[in-house]
Amino acid sequence: MNNWIRTRLHWMGIRLGAGEAVSSQPVTLVGDCNRCGACCEVERQGMTLRCENLEVLGSIGQPWASRCRAYQTRYDGMPIRLYDIRTGRLIEHSLCAKNSPAETEAILSQGIGRGCSLSVTKADAPARPGA
Ligand code: SF4
Ligand code: SF4
Repeated sequence: MNNWIRTRLHWMGIRLGAGEAVSSQPVTLVGDCNRCGACCEVERQGMTLRCENLEVLGSIGQPWASRCRAYQTRYDGMPIRLYDIRTGRLIEHSLCAKNSPAETEAILSQGIGRGCSLSVTKADAPARPGA
């Protein structure tokens, strides 16, 4: 097993568009990424779009189904291209979300419940003024 899947920093994810984020409350994700690849895909207008850098090794959503070809060099905001998995056609330009709040959003939206091995923990509620 590669070392990188054992650290909480080593998750994957694509930046979502405006209005696609799902968390209104701060949350923390814990656990080890199983490389299911779900958070490097996004649903748009009935299409499933996938990052061009995602190498598919199995069935997306299953453990060890993918590998990021850009893993070592990717950065938050790195330009990526998304293609329609049905036709293979390049559809749009997007951004990788490495180790950013946007990555958490992508995992919450695209990964949790669809094969992601991470767990969601609600952050402590902020202290009430005067409490
Ligand atoms: S570069 Fe693409 S495949 Fe790699 S982590 Fe970012 S969104 Fe996922
Ligand atoms: S959805 Fe979760 S387990 Fe799957 S690749 Fe993304 S962070 Fe890893």
